[in-house]
Amino acid sequence: MIQLKKIKKTYTTGDFTQVALNEIDLSFRANEFVAILGQSGSGKTTLLNILGGLDQYDSGDLIINGRSTKNFKDSDWDAYRNNSVGFVFQSYNLIPHLNILDNIEMSMTLSGISMSEKKERALEVLERVGLKEHAKKKPNQLSGGQMQRVAIARALVNNPDIILADEPTGALDSETSVQIMDLISEIAKDKLVVMVTHNPDLAKSYADRIVELSDGSVVSDSDPYSEKDEVDNYNPKKTSMSFFTALKLSGKNILAKKWRTALTSFASSIGIIGVALVLALSNGFDIQISEYEKGTLSNYPIQITQTAMNIDMSAMGNDEEEAVEYPKDEVVYSYDSSENNVTHTNTITEEYVDYVEDMDSSLIDGISYTRSVNMNILKMEDGKATSVNQSTAGFSTYPSKSESTDSDFLEENYDVLAGSLPKDTNDIVLIVDEYNQVDVSILNELGLTSDDEEIKFDDIVGTEYKLLYNDDYYTKSGDYYVVNGTPTDLSDLYNSENAETLTVTGIIRIKEDTNVSGLSTGIAYSDDLAKKFIENAKQSEVVLAQEAADYNVLNGSVFSSNDSSGSTMGGRNTSSLGSTQTKDDVLAQLGASSVPTSISIYPVDFDSKEKITEYLDDWNDGLADTDQIQYTDMAEMITTLSGSIMSAITIVLVAFAAISLVVSMIMIGIIIYISVLERTREIGVLRSLGARKKDITRVFNAETFIIGTCSGLLGILIAYLLTFPVNSVLEGMTDLANIAQLDPVVAIGLVALSVILTMIGGFIPAKMAAKKDPVEALRSE
Ligand code: ADP
Ligand code: MG
Repeated sequence: MIQLKKIKKTYTTGDFTQVALNEIDLSFRANEFVAILGQSGSGKTTLLNILGGLDQYDSGDLIINGRSTKNFKDSDWDAYRNNSVGFVFQSYNLIPHLNILDNIEMSMTLSGISMSEKKERALEVLERVGLKEHAKKKPNQLSGGQMQRVAIARALVNNPDIILADEPTGALDSETSVQIMDLISEIAKDKLVVMVTHNPDLAKSYADRIVELSDGSVVSDSDPYSEKDEVDNYNPKKTSMSFFTALKLSGKNILAKKWRTALTSFASSIGIIGVALVLALSNGFDIQISEYEKGTLSNYPIQITQTAMNIDMSAMGNDEEEAVEYPKDEVVYSYDSSENNVTHTNTITEEYVDYVEDMDSSLIDGISYTRSVNMNILKMEDGKATSVNQSTAGFSTYPSKSESTDSDFLEENYDVLAGSLPKDTNDIVLIVDEYNQVDVSILNELGLTSDDEEIKFDDIVGTEYKLLYNDDYYTKSGDYYVVNGTPTDLSDLYNSENAETLTVTGIIRIKEDTNVSGLSTGIAYSDDLAKKFIENAKQSEVVLAQEAADYNVLNGSVFSSNDSSGSTMGGRNTSSLGSTQTKDDVLAQLGASSVPTSISIYPVDFDSKEKITEYLDDWNDGLADTDQIQYTDMAEMITTLSGSIMSAITIVLVAFAAISLVVSMIMIGIIIYISVLERTREIGVLRSLGARKKDITRVFNAETFIIGTCSGLLGILIAYLLTFPVNSVLEGMTDLANIAQLDPVVAIGLVALSVILTMIGGFIPAKMAAKKDPVEALRSE
């Protein structure tokens, strides 16, 4: 049934070639007990290994049941070992971290036999070798003889045709040897048993046939057999180990070394902890920042001023040639500085103002306008009426919605200290700062003075001012227009029935918890008042006269040119009548134009801010660059900035933490490599039982999988637990609660990352393990 034909095997070490088997011809009967005798080094083990398909012959042929093995593939040899051969070694070669039952079941595990059948068959053979009660013991809890019985049971359990035993009694005392020999000869009743021994007495008393080897050749054969050529009827079942089996096998190995595994997992989890914490923190900060932004930055107005920074940076770098720094050329370059101008001039038109005011009013808390108009306002002090310089008195409009003067903006962001919020067009309020302070020059200009630096609320609320329309305020005097009265006492104007009464209805102060950019201190009035004044002013004599004249009708000074070089960015009403004033400036001050110099839009919240900017962008659709109106979104700028700073910091920190991930990957590689060295013999045993190279890789991949999963889970658990102390420390420092928040998706991702990295780290050692020659693996200590 098994035939060796001119089998030759040599080993080459360096220059020296050792012929271990020299053209051996031997045939074995299907059922006989053959003892191989010979001195040490005569080639007995080599012969046995080649018979068992554990080692490959150099030339000749091994014929199994009539089938030549010349063209056997690795998988054929694996199947042969698993199905047809059972090995018994001198040193038992049991897998130390598996119990007796698992050791015996291993070859069945490799051929994919069901759990229940495995157990049944394993207990059956264990009973046969008389060790049924020891099934749950580990190998090191047994005596040598018992271990060898287990090894025999393992060899028998797959019911192979051939049992190959290499000096099975070599490590046993003579009494135990006899028991083992009895067991083997009992087996030999219905199998081919080939046993190597250097004990001729044992051979003679038990074997049916004795073959003697010397220097790799057969020197005697007590019962030669010459087989007639058989028909090929050999078809063993291929083996395959499932990843689950590999996991179980590695799991048991890992359990046997729990502390080392725990420490390894912990060490390699440090990288995961680092990355997880950094991500948790940055996640938390992101959430905090966006909440903060939603809560407070949304109150920053979107501003449309006459001059805006050009957001479209791409327009800048259009130069055909980049200028070179510190050029060597001995020439001077001319360039056009205006080409690179990053500011954009917004020409705000009435249509644009209408467009802005048409906006869905539910999106806004209010809109405020800055206008150059200088309304004619009079105060009464000590019985004398004088005009109020609005610039000095801090006049500005408060944000409001167009349909009502009652402002949501003031209501939301300001506390009323005395009186009430403005309800009517002619209602005005005094804004004080967080300290209830107002600059002395403002108070003086408003005629609100006191001896002891304190003014009672009651003395302010109810104070009246008078607004006079241009036609009442100005009178024509020759070619000029002058104030209609004695400037030091304008009581007549003040008391005239055409004068509008403006009443201070309240004193307001920005709320403590509001971060909105507050209005400046001084008087706040409604834009409707300004509009009312302007509507009237447009038809006034002084305006009409100014429109017709080339000189300033108020003081006779001549305009140098009529461009708008005097316009200032977001400037309040300019009252200085310097020579730089243009005709447009003067007209604007007189109220000839209803177009504001700047617009501030206060969004209700973050989402509506987005909608507002979308709405404003729509205006620019299809307009030429120069005709577009660009707004400044301060909140957006801060958001983008803080967002990108956060992500930059996160990247840097993650990079640092990732270094420890790489370190742990290398460490895992080393640990697995050590494990491979430690388990070399186990690899040999598994191969002798029919495990494929693939299965060996699987066993070690399973081990790295387990370590990777453990360290990933451990890392996430520790990182999660750490978020509590970290959060309480951060809360103490910043008043922000729950900053570190571990995103579950990130957590799962990190466990996966840990598994992947450790598996990469263990991949090379696992491949090395698979490549190990089974014979050498079994030889190793
Ligand atoms: P035996 O089992 O009869 O003592 P072996 O079959 O183990 O002998 O070895 C036969 C010869 O082959 C010996 O000379 C031994 O040194 C040599 N040999 C066996 N295995 C190797 C090997 N892996 N590398 C080099 N020489 C080897
Ligand atoms: Mg030997």
